[in-house]
Amino acid sequence: MDLKQIEIVGRHPGPRLLILAGVHGDEYEPIAAVRRLADQIDREDLNGSVTLVPIANQPAYRRHSRIGADKLDLARTFPGSPNGTPTEQIAHAITKLIQQSDLMIDLHTGGLAMEISPLVGYMLVSDPATLQKQRQMATAFGLPIVWGTSAKLEGRSLSAARDANVPTIYAEWGGGGGCQADGVAAYTTGCLQVMADCKMTSAPTAAAPADRCVIEDDRDTSGHLQLNYPAPHGGFYEPTLALDTDVRPGDELGRLFDPFTSQATSIRSTQTGRLITRRVLPPVEAGDCLAVILEDPAETGANNE
Ligand SMILES: [Zn+2]
Repeated sequence: MDLKQIEIVGRHPGPRLLILAGVHGDEYEPIAAVRRLADQIDREDLNGSVTLVPIANQPAYRRHSRIGADKLDLARTFPGSPNGTPTEQIAHAITKLIQQSDLMIDLHTGGLAMEISPLVGYMLVSDPATLQKQRQMATAFGLPIVWGTSAKLEGRSLSAARDANVPTIYAEWGGGGGCQADGVAAYTTGCLQVMADCKMTSAPTAAAPADRCVIEDDRDTSGHLQLNYPAPHGGFYEPTLALDTDVRPGDELGRLFDPFTSQATSIRSTQTGRLITRRVLPPVEAGDCLAVILEDPAETGANNE
């Protein structure tokens, strides 16, 4: 498996940081941000090394698609297999990179189908030092939502990092097609701020955004963005509410139309929280995720602890 990567080795010793983009082939801001990082990181002022993977999932990228022709979602295929399908081989190659790293950042967006509020997340792993490092990296990244979620999810780059005990964060920003300059800038700055915070560069560490929202939710499926509000049937979806709207049970999130009869099914919230993901690609099949609502388990009393 030829996993193309850019290796920047600093003048001074320090941690090995791995930054992944393009795990999903239709998420473009991360790919653009990694190119800027390759230009901006200065070897002379770098402690340790940075490995950039600009397009982790090249088969999916070439299809303008989240997934490759083998229909496997790379972010559900870790640790992969050296002799499996192309997606399984990519997962295996990235797992080996993760095992050789000291820190990881995995950059995503909502892709063509979804829009996601800018957020940075991590798994609530059992190792206290690793968890603390992840909290610190997430804070340094500088996005408005910080979301710690279940360590029990499998198949992710985060699962491979958990098993190798490599402190790791992931980020989400926007989506819905195209490559927005704001997202590219936020991701470039976020990675540089994590590097500064980890003393990999001499840049000053930035202050956390004043109005940021920090939620840690250890329920088993927390952080699984595809399980929420599955479409009850196929149709043409039109979201009602904007991202970041505060919602309550009963609020209409969107309508699923039969495009030929205009008959509509109203998709309503069953939760209290903030709308952080919404479907923006209208054609929908039964079971497709239509929305994600960020609940605060401290308010709902739903935490496992
Ligand atoms: Zn993704």
